[in-house]
Amino acid sequence: MDPPKFVIEASEAKRLAESAGLSVQELLARLVPGAQALARPPISKFSVAAAGLGPSGRIFIGVNLEFPGLPLHHSVHAEQFLVTNLSLNGEAELVSMAVTSAPCGHCRQFLQELRSAGDIKILVTSDKQFRRLSDFLPQRFGPHELLPLEAPLHLEAHHNALSLLGDGDGDDAAIQKLKIAALEAANKSHAPYSGSPSGVALLDSHGNIFRGSYVESAAFNPSLGPVQAALIAFVAAGSPHYHNILAAVLVEKADALVKQDHTANLLLHSISPNCHFHTFLSHSHPPSS
Ligand SMILES: [Zn+2]
Repeated sequence: MDPPKFVIEASEAKRLAESAGLSVQELLARLVPGAQALARPPISKFSVAAAGLGPSGRIFIGVNLEFPGLPLHHSVHAEQFLVTNLSLNGEAELVSMAVTSAPCGHCRQFLQELRSAGDIKILVTSDKQFRRLSDFLPQRFGPHELLPLEAPLHLEAHHNALSLLGDGDGDDAAIQKLKIAALEAANKSHAPYSGSPSGVALLDSHGNIFRGSYVESAAFNPSLGPVQAALIAFVAAGSPHYHNILAAVLVEKADALVKQDHTANLLLHSISPNCHFHTFLSHSHPPSS
């Protein structure tokens, strides 16, 4: 089987499953070995792939990304890629997934940011049957230790009501477009623990824009930075080389407790040394009455 695309439309998933005599859920495990070819793990050489099914019937792929020259915590795990891929495509839930190896502790924790996380069905491809995430992580520390029950979780709608400080006069047209894209990403960011949403937009040499929203974990360390999220969009679009990223814009709050500026610049400079990086500050609107 050829490596799958990062998003398989519901009709295509159904057709592939029928032609293999499988249910769409059973198809997930068949897609994972081919998807391993899409991983980018130059440090570990250990390719991880996950295939996840959403309520729409679409299938989403996630793979691991590693960045030589940087500390390991900059890495993206396949399950984080998968969930970000759902977010980029407006899928509100993860129903089930197949993955090449058991989710690490970091990913079991990251997945807790989804509503009904414990019910997500997971198949490790060396096993025969799906098990619930609550079987992998029976005693969980989750968002509701810190947030009210009704607070929006990751993949649910976020409206952070940010707007940019300053009028933007003097910015060139490309930077203006990136600012708008990064602001939109920041407005969708899931950052309820620090109250410091942020977003990044990347511009490649073909004029394409890729955006990524910062995602926090209740356990803090498994959080996914906005550059990593935007790089997931870049990789999911099939873009081959990070050095094709020519410009990047970060939008974050002027008074943020958690700042992405230095880390984002470090990561981007490492993978694309000629990338022009800009940070723009925002503030929150008070809720309108
Ligand atoms: Zn992991």
